[in-house]
Amino acid sequence: MKKANDKIRNPLPQKTNKIKWRAIWVYLLVLAVLLVPQLGGRSLTEITWQQFQKDILSRNAVDRLEVVNGETVDVYLKPSFANDKQFKDVFKSTWGGNKGPHYFFSIGSSDSFDRELSDAQKNVPLNEKIPVSYLKRSNWVVSVLSWIIPFALLFLAWNYFMRRAAGGGMLGGGGSSIFNFGKSTATLIEKNKSDVTFDEVAGLEEAQIEVREIVDFLKNPDTFTKLGAKIPKGVILVGPPGTGKTLLAKAVAGEARVPFFSISGSEFVEMFVGVGASRVRDLFRQAKEKAPCIIFIDEIDAIGRSRGKGAFLSGGNDERESTLNQLLTEMDGFGTNSGVIVLAASNRADMLDPALLRPGRFDRHIYLELPNMNEREAIFKVHMRPLVTDHSIDTRFLAAQTPGFSGADIANICNEAALFAARKKENKISRQDFMDAIDRVIAGLEKKSKIILPEEKKRIAFHEAGHAVVSWMLKNVDPLVKVSIIPRGKSLGAAWYLPEEKQLRTESAFREHLCATLGGRAAEEIIFGEVSSGALDDLEKATNEAYMMVAYFGFDKKLGNTSYYDSTGQRDVSIQKPYSEETGRLIDEEVRKLINSAYSRAKEILVQNGSSLEHLAQALQTKEVLYKEDLEKILGKRQQPEHAVPALGKYQD
Ligand code: ADP
Ligand code: ZN
Repeated sequence: MKKANDKIRNPLPQKTNKIKWRAIWVYLLVLAVLLVPQLGGRSLTEITWQQFQKDILSRNAVDRLEVVNGETVDVYLKPSFANDKQFKDVFKSTWGGNKGPHYFFSIGSSDSFDRELSDAQKNVPLNEKIPVSYLKRSNWVVSVLSWIIPFALLFLAWNYFMRRAAGGGMLGGGGSSIFNFGKSTATLIEKNKSDVTFDEVAGLEEAQIEVREIVDFLKNPDTFTKLGAKIPKGVILVGPPGTGKTLLAKAVAGEARVPFFSISGSEFVEMFVGVGASRVRDLFRQAKEKAPCIIFIDEIDAIGRSRGKGAFLSGGNDERESTLNQLLTEMDGFGTNSGVIVLAASNRADMLDPALLRPGRFDRHIYLELPNMNEREAIFKVHMRPLVTDHSIDTRFLAAQTPGFSGADIANICNEAALFAARKKENKISRQDFMDAIDRVIAGLEKKSKIILPEEKKRIAFHEAGHAVVSWMLKNVDPLVKVSIIPRGKSLGAAWYLPEEKQLRTESAFREHLCATLGGRAAEEIIFGEVSSGALDDLEKATNEAYMMVAYFGFDKKLGNTSYYDSTGQRDVSIQKPYSEETGRLIDEEVRKLINSAYSRAKEILVQNGSSLEHLAQALQTKEVLYKEDLEKILGKRQQPEHAVPALGKYQD
């Protein structure tokens, strides 16, 4: 889990930023120096042609005229008029005496000006006519700017995209600029500052023992190297999401008090080709400077997925491959005892490129699993430490209520419980808050405001009652603990089961589960004579399960003991089916048969228990939520399941 924090710092980018800012000031200064004379240098008074004719030309004060660009005319006065009452001020307007031009006026065009001027001087002898020169004066500042601005805009746009590509902004602080584009975005948490310790990691006993060895090495490398031992360079933590892989890596850094670099595999592989490889190089360079230290690569599958796997769809990702190669090169490059240890996390080890797992690279694998009941209890205890709870809370009970939950789920429940309590303005977190939090994490928040029409409510009640009755009557289905018709998340109602922790499920358990899944729809058909769209989720689950039974687990008599399961994930089933057309047709047929027979069985059970169904649906409509005790009152005590088995889903819509 990544927390944004202020401990992150990255000294380099700030320096480059400073340099850049200084450069900008220099540019601005130069620009100002160039612009000032252009703007303020000419102290010219604009006049009109009529004023010129009346006040200047008629007094014969004009020395010469300059037509500039065919647009304006600059007027130079004769020096002899310097002390003239009318022009005295103009001559003195500039320091050291104004040598002209003294006035200017605008004209329509050179031609029309020529005509008017010669008209005005009709009676003047040729040698006294005012000399007129024509010149082109380009305002070079404007033309230079008109060149610079588009380039500047292009540059800024480019810079902007590069920054984004380099994933800069996210790190806060200096972030990356154009100058360190390609630098790794690994966040460095300073020494002593990864304050996670093994104290905060609950369960994971075996994994902890293995990583403790790494801590020992980082703390006293001599005891190992003295004997010539080599410490693994790379360790892969494998396990489902939320089982504490990141937590464990942080705890190693925290216990050993070494810096911790963390980066996600997907951050290596970004938009630009070549960035990934340079990021890897940079990451290792930084790490070696800080050795001993830990590099943590989350989601290493993003770069380390086996070559060729999925290449058809991803178009043979060269970028990923070059990043992976760079990573391998770096790992081979540094000595075993350089003090840099790479920890990586992955959800599936079988998807990883074998090259990554070779000796000298990630040759240690630590498997993390979903916590069992005792471990869940320990995790609850860890996360309840900072909470203010009342005495009614029994962590053992909570652990029993949360089979299949990961450490992250449990952390989430504890937080949700605190939020529920805070919302109710309680001063202690109660057991009920935890129960609500568990329900919420399983199925989303209750939506009491969702409007349900009365006839819909009736249908939903019968649907849920159908699930409840069918599962109650079948002994291999997980025990039902609660039925509700309060909308939650996406679903309109739900039946909660408490799965038992078993590693195996028998064929009959599968069949019965299938029945219970279809119980909702069966009840709708019996009571209303027709089905509704409300069973979509049930049908999807049932179809998947039936397919698994037939194609994966080899439960079908006709197909026999064959499985088309692909544990390597290598095959692209959407393109190439692992079986022939004929077998495919047989699988479809058998899946349909299986579902149909489960559906008929569900209907049978419901018809036999018609009054219980009615009763339960009625109770649901009035109470909305029924607990195990209420169910027992209506349906009688449930037969003790012989082999209760974990359900695929924890609840049914
Ligand atoms: P992963 O990296 O495996 O997806 P994380 O390490 O990010 O999982 O776990 C997420 C959070 O779940 C952790 O920050 C921690 O609060 C909690 N958690 C997970 N496993 C454990 C555990 N064994 N003990 C205590 N807390 C845990
Ligand atoms: Zn349902």
